[in-house]
Amino acid sequence: MRRHVVLGALVAAGALSMTVGAFQQPAGQAAPMVVEVEKLKDNLYVMKGGGGNSAVFITAGGVTVVDTKLPGWGKPLLDKIKTVTDKPVTRIINTHTHFDHVSGNVEFPASIEIIVQENTKTLMDQMNPVYGVQTGPQPNLFKQNGGKGMPTKTFKDKMTVGKGAEQIDLYYFGRAHTGGDAYVVFPALRVMHVGDTMPTRDMPIMDKNNGGSAVAFSATLTKAAAVSGIDTIINGHNPTTTTPADLKLYAEFIADFVKFAQDAKKGGKTVDDVVATWKVPAKYTGYATPTAARVKADAQVAFDESK
Ligand SMILES: [Zn+2]
Repeated sequence: MRRHVVLGALVAAGALSMTVGAFQQPAGQAAPMVVEVEKLKDNLYVMKGGGGNSAVFITAGGVTVVDTKLPGWGKPLLDKIKTVTDKPVTRIINTHTHFDHVSGNVEFPASIEIIVQENTKTLMDQMNPVYGVQTGPQPNLFKQNGGKGMPTKTFKDKMTVGKGAEQIDLYYFGRAHTGGDAYVVFPALRVMHVGDTMPTRDMPIMDKNNGGSAVAFSATLTKAAAVSGIDTIINGHNPTTTTPADLKLYAEFIADFVKFAQDAKKGGKTVDDVVATWKVPAKYTGYATPTAARVKADAQVAFDESK
């Protein structure tokens, strides 16, 4: 199921590869655009489908939306938000540059504040192909829309917006999934959105085309898992929430994989040897078996970054 959610997102964006071809809709039968709602708290919802999981945070001053999904999904997301509140959306936060998290930005009113980590603003200007997923130049929705949907505010390492029950803390802890991953914390609710730094319990994309890193990934995530006052984590694509303990374990999972790849390289092995021999270690119960293509892409990034 997890795999279908992620692959479905890629299919919808036209980023087809051999491995996802089997999930294509028959021609002329576009899947209905259904945004599913999960109420986490009285004023915090997770809205799923059409790309990355969106968080919808409702305060007296307006609604903050974290991540806006695939192209064409901004409007269905906005429509779904209207079913849970009559407050206007005043702010978007994008966790990172990927098309399945930022594209809906252009379908929101132009007056909205859009906040990202500063590297993500640069990456949204470039929209480089996602390493291991896309090849060749990608369409830039923001340029096609005269700059609409681009960030209006950035932060470097930490920023706080709002106060009291409305407070949101934004953190950058270093390179991981991309070079501009933001961690979005709602302190009053003890919830953090971690984007695709832990998308599901599966191997993440280490998007070196967009500043991502294999070697830095685990240390970055360990910092995020240490943020105090968090009970609940919203993941980029997981159908249910997870916990800081899950995030810490995921950081170990990535460290184990990167070490495996580095040891293989030191021993004169190739990336293909890693693909042939690496298995999800038994301690990571409930983890999906990654595709060979994902293991290969991530092993390549680890090889490239290691002596
Ligand atoms: Zn992503």
